[in-house]
Amino acid sequence: MLFSEIPGHAEVKERLIRSINEGRVSHAQLFLGQSGSGSLALAVAYAQYLNCTNRINNDSCGECPSCRKYNKLIHPDLHFSYPFITKKADEVSTVYIKEWREALLASPFMGIDEWTDQLQAENKQPNINIAECHDIIKRLSYKSYEADFKVLIMWLPEYLGATGNTLLKLIEEPPEKTLFILVAEQYDQIINTILSRTQLVKIGKFSDEEIKAHLLEMDCEEHAAARYAYLADGSMQAGINLMLLEENNLEEVFVQWFRLCYARKGIEIQHLIDQIAIAAFGRENQKNMLRFGLQVIRDCLTYNASATEIIRFESKFFELPKMASIINTLNAPYIIGHLEKAIYHIERNANPKIVFLDLSVQVMKDLQRKM
Ligand SMILES: [Zn+2]
Repeated sequence: MLFSEIPGHAEVKERLIRSINEGRVSHAQLFLGQSGSGSLALAVAYAQYLNCTNRINNDSCGECPSCRKYNKLIHPDLHFSYPFITKKADEVSTVYIKEWREALLASPFMGIDEWTDQLQAENKQPNINIAECHDIIKRLSYKSYEADFKVLIMWLPEYLGATGNTLLKLIEEPPEKTLFILVAEQYDQIINTILSRTQLVKIGKFSDEEIKAHLLEMDCEEHAAARYAYLADGSMQAGINLMLLEENNLEEVFVQWFRLCYARKGIEIQHLIDQIAIAAFGRENQKNMLRFGLQVIRDCLTYNASATEIIRFESKFFELPKMASIINTLNAPYIIGHLEKAIYHIERNANPKIVFLDLSVQVMKDLQRKM
C-alpha cells in the first residue's frame, strides 16, 4: 500500500515519512484512530515505506522486490496479528492469513464488522488469545528473511485483554530492527502497561470532502456521495457501506419501523424485527439503519429550531416537517440515547432480535413524552 493510495491525512503522513527519512523510527507505536479512519492502511504504508529500497517523492516505489511483496501483503518479514474466532485453544491468527489478506486488500478501511463478516463469525466473539501472543514472540524471534526491518502490525489490541501482558517484554525490548505497530480504535480499552510502552500516533477522522471524493472515484453519483459522506461521520468504510447498501432500502425500513413505534403497533413491529434481525440482513445494515435514524432525529431537532438551511438531508421516504412534528427537545435526547445504545450492542455482537425489541419498547415510551 502506498501513502498516495490513502486519501487525506497529509499531516500524519508527512510526520511518518519524515521520521523514517531521518532514521527516527520508534520500535513500538500505537496508531490510534476511530473505525474507518484508515489507520490500518497507514500502518501498512508506513511499514512498506520503511522497507522500500527505492523510495521516490516521499512514497514507496511500489515496484522494488520488497514493494511487490508488500503490495500483496505476502512479504515474509511483514507479520499481522488480529482478532479471530478460535475453534481450538491453541489456534493462532495465521490460520486465517488468507482471509485476512483478501479482506484487507479488498477493503483497506475495514472495521471489525467487515472482518467478522469475512470470517463468517455470525454471533461469535473474536479475540486475540494467549496462544497468539506466544506465537508472536516466536515469529519475531527469528532473523528477518530479507528486509531491513521485521514488522508486526497488530490490529485491534483492544481484543487482547490481560493476555497482552505476555507481550510486554517484547514491546519494551524488541529484537533488533523490529517494528511493532499496534492499530487501535479505543484508547481506554487497551491495557495501561501496553499504552505506557508505545509511542502514540493519532489518526483523525476523514473529512466529508475526502469521503465524498473517494466515493466519486468509486462511481458513486454526486448527490448521493455527498449524503453518504455526511452520514459516515468520518469513517471511510461507513461511507462505502452506505453506498453499497443503498439497494437494501435502509431508509425505508427505518421510517417504516419508526412510524410503527409512533403508532404503537406491537405485532407489526415484531414482524418487521423478524426481517431485520436475521443474519441475511446483516449487522452492518442494522447499524447503518440506526445511524441513519440518528441523523434523521438530529435533523428534526434542527428543523424545529428553524435552522433549516443547515439540513443537508433529503429522502424520498418521508417529509421532514411531518417527522419533526413528533420530535421535540424532551423526547429527542432519549431517542438518540436509545439508538446509540442499540448500535453499541450490535457492534458487540448482542442478539439483534433482543436489541431491536428492547429499542422498540424504549422508543415507543420516548415518543409519549410530550412538551
Ligand atoms: Zn519499493
